[in-house]
Amino acid sequence: MASVEFQNVGISFGATPVVRDLNLTVEDGEFVVLVGPSGCGKSTILRSIAGLAGVSAGDLKIGARRVNDVDPAERDIAMVFQSYALFPNMTVAGNLGFGLKIRGEARGEIDAKVAEAARTVGLSDHLHKRPGALSGGQRQRVALARAILRRPGVFLFDEPLSNLDAEFRTAMRAEIVRFHRDQGASMVYVTHDQTEAMTMGDRIAVLAPLAGGHKSNLMQYGTPDEVYDRPANLFVARFIGTPRMNVVTLPVEGGAVMFGSQRVALPDAAAGLARVALGQRPEHLRLAGADTPGLPGRVEHIENLGHEQILTIASDLGPLILRETRDDAQAALGQPVVLVLDPARLHLFDPQTEARLD
Ligand code: ADP
Ligand code: MG
Repeated sequence: MASVEFQNVGISFGATPVVRDLNLTVEDGEFVVLVGPSGCGKSTILRSIAGLAGVSAGDLKIGARRVNDVDPAERDIAMVFQSYALFPNMTVAGNLGFGLKIRGEARGEIDAKVAEAARTVGLSDHLHKRPGALSGGQRQRVALARAILRRPGVFLFDEPLSNLDAEFRTAMRAEIVRFHRDQGASMVYVTHDQTEAMTMGDRIAVLAPLAGGHKSNLMQYGTPDEVYDRPANLFVARFIGTPRMNVVTLPVEGGAVMFGSQRVALPDAAAGLARVALGQRPEHLRLAGADTPGLPGRVEHIENLGHEQILTIASDLGPLILRETRDDAQAALGQPVVLVLDPARLHLFDPQTEARLD
């Protein structure tokens, strides 16, 4: 097992920088998720750990060793690819044992290790089958078992679940988390799916493309709770959470903003700003009667999810999203409503720098 450390790392393809000034440490035994929209450099960062993408600036360390120039084969990592890359003409046992065989291990030794790895991922009954006879989830587990057999210091996963259907995805998510708990190994897991990131990571690194004008790709690094409860900037605020956070930009007057007829006093952190970007998650916004100070609106869309519903409210500040359990459900399509902010659950950002204000 090993830690992974990026110190001011930059990665370019030709003259095009894709990763800049990346500072990130994966502690020994930690499960870290790299999450961000397509094209933000997640795979490139992961591949740089494996030695498949060259680092053009800074230092990359695995354990205490600087690996910028170390051969991929010498890095003690295992990568679980999105495409399973199994040999179609070999059985599951053959696929699992292949690496051990070419390392020259004895037959009996190989069989024992393969049986143990198969048991770990629940494939014991499928060892004689070929990959073509397996479901997507089972093939994924073969890839996982193959990685286990390498006994690497660091496991790398690049969107391993995106080919699976929703039911398998949830099950495999739980299996990989359990696997991490059992093995205690360092894992770096790439996904564009923020639900996957929130539910799996000890810590989450939220990444943005450099094209957005950011100094570095890393927008925030923290536990799921930190990233959700205190997003460091507007990018993270909008990326993490579904449905996403409502953000309205309002003029500041006398240390407060007006949300319709609701006066919301601002903390000192917002002093001196002419405008402030005010965020509130859909679960904290609420509906009130017509005589309550708030923002008037009209119910434009209702998405009924059974246990809760997601309302889209048209207002002078644009569409706002509100989420309520169906016990409180009171709105009907087209109905005029008043939206009220919860001042204790505001997220404030500087609209210029997009940074959090407290
Ligand atoms: P993600 O995994 O977050 O979707 P990638 O790391 O695959 O993003 O890609 C980040 C950026 O780097 C993209 O703009 C992509 O087009 C570019 N890129 C990735 N690989 C190469 C390559 N081998 N050559 C040139 N550009 C590349
Ligand atoms: Mg990718």
